[in-house]
Amino acid sequence: LESNILFDRKYDDVPDHWPHVVVVGAGFGGLSCVNRLKNLPVRITLIDRHNYHLFQPLLYQIATAGLSPADVATPIRGLFRKDGNVRVVLGEVDAIDSKSKTVTFGQNSMDYDHLVLATGASHSYFGKDEWAPFAPGLKTIEDGVSVRAHVLRAFEKAESSSDPSRIERLLTFVIVGAGPTGVELAGAIAELARHGLKDEFSQIDPARARILLVQSGDRILPAFPKELSAHAAQSLEDLGVEIRLGSRVTNIAADHVEIGKESQIATETVLWAAGVVASPAGRWLDAETDRAGRVQVDDHLRVTGHENVFAIGDTAGSNGWKGNPVPGLAPAAKQAGNHVAKSIENQLLGKAGLEPFAYQHQGSLATIGRKSAVADFGFIKLHGAIAWWLWGAVHVGFLSGTRNRIAVLVNWIWSYFTLQLGIRLITGKDSGA
Ligand SMILES: Cc1cc2nc3c(=O)[nH]c(=O)nc-3n(C[C@H](O)[C@H](O)[C@H](O)COP(=O)(O)OP(=O)(O)OC[C@H]3O[C@@H](n4cnc5c(N)ncnc54)[C@H](O)[C@@H]3O)c2cc1C
Repeated sequence: LESNILFDRKYDDVPDHWPHVVVVGAGFGGLSCVNRLKNLPVRITLIDRHNYHLFQPLLYQIATAGLSPADVATPIRGLFRKDGNVRVVLGEVDAIDSKSKTVTFGQNSMDYDHLVLATGASHSYFGKDEWAPFAPGLKTIEDGVSVRAHVLRAFEKAESSSDPSRIERLLTFVIVGAGPTGVELAGAIAELARHGLKDEFSQIDPARARILLVQSGDRILPAFPKELSAHAAQSLEDLGVEIRLGSRVTNIAADHVEIGKESQIATETVLWAAGVVASPAGRWLDAETDRAGRVQVDDHLRVTGHENVFAIGDTAGSNGWKGNPVPGLAPAAKQAGNHVAKSIENQLLGKAGLEPFAYQHQGSLATIGRKSAVADFGFIKLHGAIAWWLWGAVHVGFLSGTRNRIAVLVNWIWSYFTLQLGIRLITGKDSGA
């Protein structure tokens, strides 16, 4: 009865004796967990440091003037407008006491019966944090907007400069790391330079811009099969991107990047797409973590030694992929969120017999510019235009909210046919001349 009348309740009417589940993080993992739990007789509090859910796979398009922030982010509160037992709280969690079952965020704290940590990851500079100011990474909307401003401003500065060596430096863009994010950034910047800014400058030719993709390994997209890496490399080279394989960055400064011992490239734009580190959830709990800071969890994603605490998604170190580490991908976080919700449900309803978490890999996709992509579904591998259409359909399909789907679709159709990118705005801090 209680669960059937759930939807007519306001949060204040929800009985206090219902167990309190606190979910920290409204990313892919946290949202999928809440979406399953919300139909049970539980009180849910969803805490996030932002008031929006961000669709990170399209963040690179904010950075390269393809989409607006509002197209790829959804206000969290609106997602649970009709769910009386879900309370959304804006706050940054900074401590957890699993003995007293308390979560602290700033000046506030709250008790929980079950806690789900879904706080994601951020970029890692492999101990070289001093590179961060010169080589921004992509994780938040602010990162996307600031990279967009930086890239566009490089063209503006080149236009107003009369020093040929400075112009060359400004028109050199270096992307470090050739996983999907690095490849997508390189392809999109190349298209911006070759097509998006065509005929808009008087003194410089944006198409002359040099775009370098630097990778320490022996091929780009190392998680994809070799033949797809080769197709992606060819598509990037067709767009004029220079690929440097077997190249390790040894220093980054405001006006250059050093690769190995011998090569120094003059540039004012270095973008970091090389490594990730989990959120500090492990530190809050004083729990065991792996080298990337991921909290070690058991077969059911429970944090060892901490009763009723679960960790999911990028912040968890699970071996639920046939005994191998679960990859840092959106579908993996969603599946984990769903599993934890089921696990809590079974515990509350006294049901037993939930199978251990088993990640099902559905495939990998990466796009190169506006017309090419690679797709690996194990049994079928695609590249070129067909993979690009598939990539587009999957991303539009998985976006949160109809408004965002329509907005993204309209933007893409517009830029596909006109080669124009409408979001070429330099905004944010230091946006002026
Ligand atoms: C640029 C980029 C491109 C990507 N492309 C793809 C792709 O094409 N395909 C794919 O499958 N995956 C992709 N990924 C990876 C994918 O986005 C992640 O694996 C996925 O987001 C992980 O989900 P999550 O729920 O663990 O964390 P996230 O989605 O990162 O969510 C974490 C949430 O926790 C919140 N949070 C963090 N710390 C705190 C705190 N202390 N207190 C309160 N809230 C907090 C954050 O605000 C955020 O909302 C990409 C990632 C990036 C960065």
